[in-house]
Amino acid sequence: MQTPQKIAIVGSGLVGTLLAIYLKKMGHDVHVYDRSPDIRTVEFSGRSINLVMSDRGWRALENIGLDAEIKKIGIAVDKRAIHMQDNKLNYQYYGKEGEVIFSLSRGILNRKMIDLAEKSGVVFFFEHKIWDVTLADATLHSGDSERGEWQELKYDKVFGADGAFSRIRHRMQRQSMFNYSQEFLNIGYKELHIPANADGTHKIDKHSLHIWPRGHFMLMALPNLDGSFTCTLFMPFEGQNSFEALKDQSVLVDFFAKYFPDTAAVIPDLVEDFFKNPTSYLVMMKCFPWTFEDKVALIGDSAHAIVPFYGQGMNAGFEDITVLSEMIEKYGNDWKTIFEEYELSRKPNADAIAELSYRNFMEMSSKTADEKFLLQKKIEKWFSDKHPDKWLPLYSRVTFSLQPYSEALAIGDMQNKIMEEIMAMPNIEEKWSSEEVENKIISLLK
Ligand SMILES: Cc1cc2nc3c(=O)[nH]c(=O)nc-3n(C[C@H](O)[C@H](O)[C@H](O)COP(=O)(O)OP(=O)(O)OC[C@H]3O[C@@H](n4cnc5c(N)ncnc54)[C@H](O)[C@@H]3O)c2cc1C
Repeated sequence: MQTPQKIAIVGSGLVGTLLAIYLKKMGHDVHVYDRSPDIRTVEFSGRSINLVMSDRGWRALENIGLDAEIKKIGIAVDKRAIHMQDNKLNYQYYGKEGEVIFSLSRGILNRKMIDLAEKSGVVFFFEHKIWDVTLADATLHSGDSERGEWQELKYDKVFGADGAFSRIRHRMQRQSMFNYSQEFLNIGYKELHIPANADGTHKIDKHSLHIWPRGHFMLMALPNLDGSFTCTLFMPFEGQNSFEALKDQSVLVDFFAKYFPDTAAVIPDLVEDFFKNPTSYLVMMKCFPWTFEDKVALIGDSAHAIVPFYGQGMNAGFEDITVLSEMIEKYGNDWKTIFEEYELSRKPNADAIAELSYRNFMEMSSKTADEKFLLQKKIEKWFSDKHPDKWLPLYSRVTFSLQPYSEALAIGDMQNKIMEEIMAMPNIEEKWSSEEVENKIISLLK
């Protein structure tokens, strides 16, 4: 048991809220600040961002007994449904039977987590903007405006869970030996909507993550509990087939008719949604260190913002909490060591999932439409089913295992080299499940 501390968390997003529940359960006095209004009082416009939770996220919830409660607000997804341009539909299962990811509304999940945190005794301060932190004594500076009067809020520890553009990190960036990089992708995204049928059922298969892969751009859709789907169109900002090019109604309608013909029947408000909804940016951010002495620590997107193509941003943030709590368990009141070990353990894994997520855009947007790639995945699955001790596909390592991301990346690269040789075998299309292929993979693994 640790000596109770007065702890402030900046950010009531998914990571800040889960961290608050953990710290409260450990006996600390926990205050959470957020510049936004309480999400439970904000009316959703009926449209919501959704995300997928996989094993790493579930483990963090399981550890404090919240997984069953959260599963109730999610939908199990066991495969990709790949919509080809000629309207053909291919299904690609993610893992073994029973291995699923869950589609959750970010807003509904966040509301639920704030409810759970409040119930456990965490105190929230909404509409409290944090402008700065004094690192040496964990003091927050809050006020209505950046140039107005600020209030000082003194704590024993401060956690920055304030997202990719973290104010807490801004202060740390002004320290010497603090490394930081930020990169915006030239691909943006826009949300669209597939409404439910009149009877509340889903218009397309609800247990699939739907993808329309078209090379440099793609559309995807994830199911919501109310029968609708949230679609996300990812495409370059400029150039041919870009957001800039889709400038008026007729161009947009023609573009969708050409590239996503089967969506005409299910996205009735395409034009309205497209021109009303913002085009959002994607940013990758890396930094180090993540902590300052035994006073301040970054967690979640404030420490590692990644692109969303592996569905791991929140999962990685939740895993930060799992690891932090393991360090707390191990080192008791020695917060300096807890923070040091936490950042050393997480940094290589955060870098690895950043790399894997970046690479996965090409897999989702191009390769899923490529016959050779689909055959490669089929061979990997076939071999893995026969030799589960010898081969676990990369997607499963990341999504359905708790192996550190850095190991998953290294083993995935090694497996890819092997598969390049296998795919180069003559007549691989005919003999993909032969003893010859099996023996070759085994020999290459040695
Ligand atoms: C399109 C898209 C799809 C995604 N899909 C997935 C997915 O499928 N699976 C997955 O695991 N992840 C996904 N992610 C990533 C995931 O959304 C993030 O990793 C996760 O929400 C990060 O949570 P967080 O709590 O660290 O930060 P945030 O959610 O950014 O929360 C930060 C909070 O801090 C508050 N705040 C910020 N600055 C201040 C301040 N100065 N003072 C007070 N409060 C402040 C904000 O109001 C906010 O409430 C996706 C992201 C995007 C963009």
